[in-house]
Amino acid sequence: MDAAEFRRRGKEMVDYVADYLENIEKRPVYPDLEPGYLRSLIPNEAPLEPESYEDIIKDVERVIMPGVTHWHSPYFFAYFPAASSYPAMVADMLCGAIGCIGFSWAHSSVERAALIGAVMMRKVPTDNRYAVRKEMLKKMVEEDKAAGLIPFYFCATLGTTPSCAFDHLTELGPLCNEENMWMHIDAAYAGSAFICPEFRPLLNGVELADSFNFNPHKWLLVNFDCSAMWVKERADIIGHWQIPLGRRFRSLKMWFVFRMYGLKGLQAHIRKQVALAKEFESLVRADKRFEICAEVVLGLVCFRLKGSNELNQELLKRITKSREIHLVPCQLSGCFVLRFAICARTTESHHIQQAWQHITQLTFELLQEASH
Ligand SMILES: *Cc1c(COP(=O)(O)O)cnc(C)c1O
Repeated sequence: MDAAEFRRRGKEMVDYVADYLENIEKRPVYPDLEPGYLRSLIPNEAPLEPESYEDIIKDVERVIMPGVTHWHSPYFFAYFPAASSYPAMVADMLCGAIGCIGFSWAHSSVERAALIGAVMMRKVPTDNRYAVRKEMLKKMVEEDKAAGLIPFYFCATLGTTPSCAFDHLTELGPLCNEENMWMHIDAAYAGSAFICPEFRPLLNGVELADSFNFNPHKWLLVNFDCSAMWVKERADIIGHWQIPLGRRFRSLKMWFVFRMYGLKGLQAHIRKQVALAKEFESLVRADKRFEICAEVVLGLVCFRLKGSNELNQELLKRITKSREIHLVPCQLSGCFVLRFAICARTTESHHIQQAWQHITQLTFELLQEASH
């Protein structure tokens, strides 16, 4: 591909991407294929002779797209959001063009903290329904010391993955400081919400932490990957950091997004998605067959049918099979719970209403069958 063809293909690709995203909701959000489906569609070996661009692009729709879960469909409510915006994609093109190997500590990821975290994670309770409080941490520390261990690291979470619970930093911080333990705060998802003043009380006690991390690639409209980490004492990290030497020019995406949305635009995005979660929550609350399983603070609603785990598993199975919307479950205090996360930038109220209608229709069928 020479420069002339790059100009042509690049423009075509921009059109393809815009068409893909603007029409994404017409595609089934979840693929109807078995793992390994690709094997029969593509050759086993790389081609010896070069192929034409046309042949490759034709195969995008033929072999690639049918196997894709469309994370940016407004009917995608699984996991947490994966941010996406046009300014970020444009900036990513420029990033690819500059193609530098960044050695500098700009907006970087958590490789080292994650490694340290893995060492102590064994002690973090697996039931994330409730936030970690002082008594729990104190007990953990005392147990470790009694076993001859020296606790040196504690990872608090603001916005846990299963239920978006918030650890009590004002209780945990002083204990960590007293015990000389490094306190890291994982705010991968919730961190973006703190650009809105009304959510900042959840940050109380952050000044006690040694490091703080959040992922603009989750909720701040910066495409994957972009994870920002702050450390209180730069020297603590710079003296030890390793893992990759170079990194991509990720801050370019942030720069484009922040400038094109402005703080107001980003706040509006967060607030809109929180409002959509509240809208879904009130639909669930109005239906006596269902219950809400955790406080809805940001863009995640944990809910379930009042009844057995098996019943809820069956409901999720049917939701997944229908492929109209996509959800994933979590486990809270032994309960099988459905997670409804507001994910796509383009999700609107009517998508929420339709998703709920779909869920209640499947519920109706399920309960009818169960009663026979
Ligand atoms: C999503 C999430 C992570 C993982 O984020 P990466 O995208 O893998 O960096 C970690 N912690 C919490 C609480 C999360 O929600």
